[in-house]
Amino acid sequence: MTTEAFDVMVVGSCMTDLVSQAPRLPKAGETIHGHKFFIGFGGKGANQCIQAARLGANTAMVCKVGKDFFGDNYIQNFKDNGVHTGFVGQASDAATGAASIIVNDAGENVIVIVAGANMLLGSEELQKALPAITHAKVLVCQLEVSPQTSLLALRMAQENKVKTIFNPAPDIPDMDPEFYSLSDVFCCNETEAELLTGSSVANLEEAHRAGQELLKRGCASVIITLGPQGCVVFKAQESDPKYVPALAVTAVDSTGAGDSFIGALAFYMAHYPTMPLEEMAQRANRVAGVSVQAVGAQTSFPFKKDLPAQLF
Ligand code: ATP
Repeated sequence: MTTEAFDVMVVGSCMTDLVSQAPRLPKAGETIHGHKFFIGFGGKGANQCIQAARLGANTAMVCKVGKDFFGDNYIQNFKDNGVHTGFVGQASDAATGAASIIVNDAGENVIVIVAGANMLLGSEELQKALPAITHAKVLVCQLEVSPQTSLLALRMAQENKVKTIFNPAPDIPDMDPEFYSLSDVFCCNETEAELLTGSSVANLEEAHRAGQELLKRGCASVIITLGPQGCVVFKAQESDPKYVPALAVTAVDSTGAGDSFIGALAFYMAHYPTMPLEEMAQRANRVAGVSVQAVGAQTSFPFKKDLPAQLF
């Protein structure tokens, strides 16, 4: 049996977003009428995988959903986006991860996340995916599944010279320092950089300091994303960080922008392995910059056909 060589494999989370829009947020014990309800596909891992797939990467997702309606639906969503689902497990003892979100007319929200089946993703699923992981070009992990699972996946990749992207999100206190040395690219946003270094990251100068500090902890390179300002790229073998500005766009919703950026970065690392990292980051800025011009996470992620040919 030959093992399919995937461009990008993502070991991570799937979440179903259950979003209710209401004039205001209800008080404890209160029932109010909302004016709109929709179900969205989310979860950092799945978002990043789907963005890479939409750019043309041959992708596979390693994750766990529940044996329920939302799990079946999520698997269909992967198939609709051309993502390989042979490593998507279905747990009978936990529900598909879900985020219940209420948004008021001022745009404020309250969110309850139940990770559910995501937390059951473990070594058994990784062992099944190992032959494919060893042949992949890029492996991407985050912290929305058990950190031990992400560590194990990154170790498997590194031992087999597969390039790794690690996104330390959502932040966990006392992150295992092994994550740094397992990262070819350690990619975080300003808030995560702040929490990890314990220093403010409110401007470019502070971002430079934080990036150098993260680099010292053992990563081959670090990218700190800065929202509308773009990102800064740091490489272990170069003393000067490279600031990569984003294009000015009219943003309507930045939800999932970081995931769009990372999915795009994974695509570029797989397809153009010799391209300088700052060039990949510049192109990933362009892809994520399109995502902020539409509402939602996956609903806003562009396809290859929506983007200028120079990005490919
Ligand atoms: P989120 O949590 O909203 O998914 P994030 O905080 O992880 O995102 P950001 O740093 O906000 O990530 O954004 C990631 C990338 O998206 C940026 O590096 C940039 O390329 C692009 N981006 C985000 N906001 C804008 C914007 N307003 N205009 C242009 N590009 C943007």
